[in-house]
Amino acid sequence: MNIGFIGLGNMGAPMAANLAAAGHKVFGYDTADISVAGVTSVPVVSEAVSGMDAVITMLPDGRVLEAVYAQIIPLAKPGALFLDCSTVDMVSAKSAHNQAADAKLLSVDAPVSGGIGGATAGTLTFMVGGAADAFDTVSPLLNIMGKRVVHCGEGGAGQAAKICNNMLLGISMIGTCEAFALGEKLGLDAGRLFEVMSTSSGSCWSVNTYCPVPGVGPTSPADNDYTPGFAAELMLKDLRLSQSAAEQVDANTPMGLNATKLYEQFVEQEGTGKDFSAMLPKIAESTRGQSND
Ligand code: NAD
Repeated sequence: MNIGFIGLGNMGAPMAANLAAAGHKVFGYDTADISVAGVTSVPVVSEAVSGMDAVITMLPDGRVLEAVYAQIIPLAKPGALFLDCSTVDMVSAKSAHNQAADAKLLSVDAPVSGGIGGATAGTLTFMVGGAADAFDTVSPLLNIMGKRVVHCGEGGAGQAAKICNNMLLGISMIGTCEAFALGEKLGLDAGRLFEVMSTSSGSCWSVNTYCPVPGVGPTSPADNDYTPGFAAELMLKDLRLSQSAAEQVDANTPMGLNATKLYEQFVEQEGTGKDFSAMLPKIAESTRGQSND
């Protein structure tokens, strides 16, 4: 296929490289003028759209996505497939689908889980929203860039699934940090507590796979001075998306709201560039009377 790839950042670059390595002709465009092995860099966005069988976007947020779609949809070849892999708010995701539908183009939202490591290894999980024919057309491409592809429902359902998953992740990481911090104050050895929780009803990804305690469990960002991994500011972005989605449908998400506030405080105090599991030292050093409650 001839594929246009717009947004060659931390995630987009390795995803585009994997498509090229699988034999597709990939034409990449990024406002930051990034070159990627195997991908033909084009100087203007129109060259990543005109004549392409598929156009993939991997952009920072919904505002940028909507602006880019407004620019590129009129340039698309009839029948082209539009695949957005960015993590964006529900309103932008639906607007992107509507723009494509108005132009009679196939479109899917397919945000990812798995981070830069997954993008590089081609092992991402894709959560896909869109009509069945669009899903069938896009699946072979997703299977190159990822190892798990779930069709979550109609347009926007991929973003909805991503928002729910990451809200749970933010909550479970904070819960994991609270449990380890309490354990420490109760005099427990963190390794022993890990042994119990990782094999008991408290087990979850944040405990078992991504333990926030240095030197405990499998290697994680905690063992590398909390270098991301998954940065706290990206977690905050996703938690904010969960809260704006919850507001739109009048869903009560008290733990999601609290997690959003805690990550807001975290990013305000610590700045960017720390892994989201660095919540552990923040919680461990705070006391009941402090504003972290
Ligand atoms: P990034 O900031 O590294 O990349 C975004 C790229 O888009 C940049 O290179 C930027 O120059 C480019 N860009 C911005 N505006 C543009 C425009 N108008 N036209 C063309 N290019 C433009 O971000 P990333 O880490 O690659 O993340 C991309 C998306 O994936 C985000 O929505 C993010 O939330 C999501 N995501 C990231 C991760 C992660 O671990 N980094 C994990 C899952 C999902």
